[in-house]
Amino acid sequence: MTDANELIAEYKNTGTLDLLPAGHFIDGTFSQPAHNRTMESFDPGSGVPFARFTAGTKEDIDAAVASSRRAFDTVWRDMAPVERSRILHRASALILENLDLLAVVETLDSGKALQEARGDVRGAARAFEYYAGACDKLQGDSFPLGPDYVGYTIHEPVGVTAHIIPWNFPISTAARGFAPALAAGCTVVAKPAEQTPFTALLLADLLFKAGLPAGVCNVVTGTGADTGAPLTAHPDVDHITFTGSVQTGRTVMKAAAEDITRVVLELGGKSPVVVLADCDREQVDFVGELVARTKALKRGHGLGNPDVGPVNSSEHLAKINGFLDRARANGAEIVTGGSVTEDPATGRGWFFEPTIVDAVSADNELAREEIFGPVLTVQIADDADHALALANDCQYGLVAGIYTSDFAKAHRLARKIDAGQIYINEYFAGGIEVPFGGNKKSGFGREKGLEGLISYCKTKSIAARIS
Ligand code: NAD
Repeated sequence: MTDANELIAEYKNTGTLDLLPAGHFIDGTFSQPAHNRTMESFDPGSGVPFARFTAGTKEDIDAAVASSRRAFDTVWRDMAPVERSRILHRASALILENLDLLAVVETLDSGKALQEARGDVRGAARAFEYYAGACDKLQGDSFPLGPDYVGYTIHEPVGVTAHIIPWNFPISTAARGFAPALAAGCTVVAKPAEQTPFTALLLADLLFKAGLPAGVCNVVTGTGADTGAPLTAHPDVDHITFTGSVQTGRTVMKAAAEDITRVVLELGGKSPVVVLADCDREQVDFVGELVARTKALKRGHGLGNPDVGPVNSSEHLAKINGFLDRARANGAEIVTGGSVTEDPATGRGWFFEPTIVDAVSADNELAREEIFGPVLTVQIADDADHALALANDCQYGLVAGIYTSDFAKAHRLARKIDAGQIYINEYFAGGIEVPFGGNKKSGFGREKGLEGLISYCKTKSIAARIS
């Protein structure tokens, strides 16, 4: 156990952390890569690199997949479910014991505020707890075929599963994929984003320490082209869970098609929030209040627990800025923010001002494209039907929120909005229990909840004549 304050002091003194892992995690150990190439990981709060990690290759992916296949065939698939459950319970406890380390590393890698990173780590522990409880309850059905037959289904693990992870929720995306896959009896090969490689490595090490046999969970770091692509094209991978952009999702789906590999795609989103006039809050001047609250947000390095941290990379910062530059040129009503900025304490880092753009028209790119930054656009609807039309006028269908005190209206709207998740009067209510996934270009397949567990199973029907 390492205290967050000690880690922060170490980082301030040395510019890095001694406990950061090196190499890939393959076969129960931090292993030497096939080629000794490394990449830099940047602290978005300062814009300065704080560590190096291995830039993997196809050879590393081959070694990891072979290890996962061996572990699947020889130990994990047939382990008693209650034993798998005990290991996942221990994993959950170990994640919590290492909360400070995981959260500080997550903040350095992703830029997010330490308090948010702590929440993500607690969520990861909760995912292992939830699916630990499900290992020995994964029961099938029996079906009636009359007195001369016996018919039943069993849920078999899919096999070796690949997990491609983006940079915005590194440990929670890893956990929401690893935990159900492992609970179902599958093995894992993961490829974290090259911007945020470290918490997946630390997680794999903790799982091993919790008793997961060697090879059951392997992590290979590196770029999408050099490690993600060979992983998704690998003929011995049985299932791919990909979380990332639509563009890469399309490439992954094509690679999966080659061997008819199963795939879950968790892609981009636009996630409208519908606020009806009757919602339970002061309605005097909705945008005015939003602007006041946004202006009061404290900006800073994630380790200082700000309200708003930096953007993850300089490339992404430029992309967000491009949206706002075009909006300004087109005369948009930017009511607060709108520009690149820095950590006020140091003058460094990749920051964008929390931004609100008012009265955006439905055909404006700000209302149609995923910006993925601290930018809120306001569209004015005449009534609930108009709000519904605006919410659905979008290529994505990931999440939507509804705020109203009229519950009947809320549920009618919830059924009509084309999105995988609808939250009423609390955005992101619930946690790992709530099935999650996209419609339209936000992808398909579901993670989390019991549906997330079934994604990692093949249902087999067995029918026998007994007379
Ligand atoms: P990205 O698609 O560029 O990268 C995601 C991952 O894919 C990274 O690990 C990357 O290395 C890997 N990758 C890149 N090229 C690859 C290839 N050819 N083959 C295999 N893997 C490859 O996405 P990004 O821009 O870094 O991530 C942000 C996106 O992720 C946003 O669009 C966001 O909406 C989406 N996202 C979706 C969810 C969800 O649950 N639906 C959650 C988080 C993020």
